Amino acid sequence: MNLILLGAPGAGKGTQAEAISAKLGIPQISTGNMLREAVKNGTALGLQAKEAMDSGALVSDEIVIGILKDRIAEPDAAKGFILDGFPRTVAQAEALDTMGVNIDKVLEIYVPDERICARMSGRRVCEACGASYHIEYKPTAVEDVCDKCGAKTVQRADDAPETVLSRLAVYREKTAPLKEFYGKTGKLLTVEGQEEVADTTKLVFEALGVND
Ligand code: ADP
Ligand code: ZN
Repeated sequence: MNLILLGAPGAGKGTQAEAISAKLGIPQISTGNMLREAVKNGTALGLQAKEAMDSGALVSDEIVIGILKDRIAEPDAAKGFILDGFPRTVAQAEALDTMGVNIDKVLEIYVPDERICARMSGRRVCEACGASYHIEYKPTAVEDVCDKCGAKTVQRADDAPETVLSRLAVYREKTAPLKEFYGKTGKLLTVEGQEEVADTTKLVFEALGVND
């Protein structure tokens, strides 16, 4: 199964992608995590991406399409994958079509804007493995320590309140049109993100037709 997760920043795509990945045994492919990794490692790609990311803007289609294409060519993606954070523009969606990638379902996690900002302030991410947490909705067992790998969890620089507002504006302008793009294909499913992660996961599994 090849899946796309759509939704505003902070809607919970990453968290639900992890749950689906564990359930179906297919990899979560997060362009945001890949870009953050490149920035952390100071690669040429990271240097190009950093400024856009810090300001809440999108990284260029050319760069992101390049890394996505390489990633889905990896052996573990052969039996399916979950795209988390890609496509984010109509041009990126068209690039998937051009690559001949067949998408089975597009799942939108909808959260009203007024709830997004509150959510973002509690979001934390593991410095080492990229796993995502929330101090209220999905806390780590030990404060600031990743459950998966034991490294430190931190707030992302682009989760600062003023950056969140520009990311929401970018989402509305560049990414929201994908709902119409995929709506026309009949593959779009929408679930409303709930307060509790597990409640959203339940709705997600139901929408995808996989058993809890
Ligand atoms: P969120 O979880 O808030 O939706 P991500 O972790 O997916 O954010 O992405 C963080 C940042 O990385 C984005 O704000 C953007 O700058 C960059 N980025 C990630 N994916 C893409 C993409 N497909 N196209 C362009 N930029 C991207
Ligand atoms: Zn970790």
